[in-house]
Amino acid sequence: MNNQNPSEVARETLKMLAQRRLLPTPDNYAKIFAEISGTPLTENKGAENVLRNVVEHLLQTDKATATGLALKKMLSEENWGLCFKEIEKVLPKIRKDGATEQSWSALIRDLLRQIDLPHKGLTTSRKKESLETVLARFSSNPEVLFEKLGNLVRSWSESPATDSLVEHIPDLPKSADTPGAPPATQTAPITETAPVTQIAPDAPASASVSVAKTDENAAEMLSKLAELLAQTLESTLSAQPELTDEVRTLASQIRTVKSHDHVTDIAKNLRHFWLKVELRGGDKTKIQEGLVRLLRLLVENVGEMVEDEEWLHGQIDTLHEIISKPLDKLIIADAERSLREAIIKQGLLKKSLTDAKSTLKSLMTTFIDRLGTITVTTGDYHQKIEGYSQKIAQSNNLHDLGHLLEDIMQDTRVIQASAQRSHEELLDSRRQVEIAEAKITSLEKELSQVSEMVHQDQLTGALNRRGLDAAFDREAKRVDRSHDPMCVALLDIDNFKRLNDTMGHQVGDQALVHLCNVIKEALRPSDSVARYGGEEFVLILPDIELDEAANTVERLQRELTRQFFMHENDRVLVTFSAGVAQRADEEPQEEVIARADKAMYQAKNTGKNRVVIAK
Ligand code: GH3
Ligand code: MG
Ligand code: MG
Repeated sequence: MNNQNPSEVARETLKMLAQRRLLPTPDNYAKIFAEISGTPLTENKGAENVLRNVVEHLLQTDKATATGLALKKMLSEENWGLCFKEIEKVLPKIRKDGATEQSWSALIRDLLRQIDLPHKGLTTSRKKESLETVLARFSSNPEVLFEKLGNLVRSWSESPATDSLVEHIPDLPKSADTPGAPPATQTAPITETAPVTQIAPDAPASASVSVAKTDENAAEMLSKLAELLAQTLESTLSAQPELTDEVRTLASQIRTVKSHDHVTDIAKNLRHFWLKVELRGGDKTKIQEGLVRLLRLLVENVGEMVEDEEWLHGQIDTLHEIISKPLDKLIIADAERSLREAIIKQGLLKKSLTDAKSTLKSLMTTFIDRLGTITVTTGDYHQKIEGYSQKIAQSNNLHDLGHLLEDIMQDTRVIQASAQRSHEELLDSRRQVEIAEAKITSLEKELSQVSEMVHQDQLTGALNRRGLDAAFDREAKRVDRSHDPMCVALLDIDNFKRLNDTMGHQVGDQALVHLCNVIKEALRPSDSVARYGGEEFVLILPDIELDEAANTVERLQRELTRQFFMHENDRVLVTFSAGVAQRADEEPQEEVIARADKAMYQAKNTGKNRVVIAK
């Protein structure tokens, strides 16, 4: 693709960018363009190389190693925007450091030279005094110190090299230059005490009071200036009433100024005065700060104090006392300390009070809980107790808790009385229940005794064993007297188990009932049917011989083939096997039945549904 038409290559480049889905950035464009045209990609690395050299240089400079490292990283990421910002950071540093170092050495040189040079009205010790003042005041801030020292040196150098009454003060505030205008510290409200840097210790003395011994104009000027200074001084009285005496003395001294020495003395006094004013200003600031702290302390604790009103009174009284007296930072600091201590103690007390309250609360809750469990309760009582529990949980106030306790005691007395009543009622009804229970037990016992006396089988209505005994005894006694025959038959249903298994036990029961009914209907009234066991029956057939008895039993069998047992519309044939025995004279019941039983087994063994006569 070498030597192609550039516009052709440009078109191809755009196509390729689209095909490869690349962003159409200048870099991408340049790469593809170079690829298509076959020309090597020209990169302008000149500036980058310069920057790399700078980075290397920085890395070897102690103060800029960090910047060097940061720049190196940005270079590798080609992050040019950040690169510039990083360089911006380091440039002023280097420049400033260098400049400052240079200036400090120049300044110190100047200072040394100017101290030794003779200046009008400036002794070497005076210069040293000013120098010490500046050093003491501004040494904490090198930049300000640099500036102030510069001003000081400049003021010396600008002074005439002859004797003069004028004292040069470094960095004189502008307002003090204007006669009649009070110094900044005097006019500034206390809350905005002028920064220290604006106050020169001997500012008032620096007003250009010039006393020319020979010049009358100068003398007049001096007296005018002295008057102005005196008035200026007096104007401080409204701001500093407690300094009245001192101000008046100073003002009168200024008005009567006579000699150069006198001025020097006054200047010294004034210097002290301003220092005092300044200190008092500082004091006021401290007092104000202290008051603010006190108020903050009170405000912070108002929430805590609301509950304990006495406390609030005590703290407010303290504040009143402080405000009523002249404000003194020591009193305020004392008050602050004692308030703080009191608040801490209060906190501790409140903690134990809270503990006591919670103990009381839990005591009350336990009391209520116990009451709830030991008393016979009603729904109403439970509700009340729950209400009290909730109230106790919500209450934080001893007063409320006290009332609650009274309410609970009151209610409890009522509840206890009613609980006592309910308890008695309950005991009474329990006694009644117990009586009833005893009655039921005795009735049940009676009932069972009564049922024992019943001779009938509950299911079939045939005689039970007791009925059998009674009936047998009665008939036996009778035939024993009459010598009439008496037969006994024992019947056992055939395959009754199968019937139970196939149709269910209840159906088996019904079958038993059916059998009994059929038998009872078919027998004479003088005959008796007794249920001897599960599906075994004993018939007592008095006044008939053995054969006739056997016939009777066979008739019963036939009867059962006529009267089917019906189950779910099915006719179910119920058959039995029987053994018949005639009672011998005086033969006991067990023996005759045993013989019949033996015969019955023979019937079973010989095909069932048969009647066998016992021997
Ligand atoms: P077998 O012809 O040899 O007498 O046969 P079986 O099935 O009758 O045999 P067995 O005499 O051994 O079983 C009697 C069954 O009768 C056993 C028992 O479940 C049932 N049975 C006994 N008493 C009652 C009762 O009051 N109701 C019912 N439904 N079944 C009873
Ligand atoms: Mg049986
Ligand atoms: Mg049977």
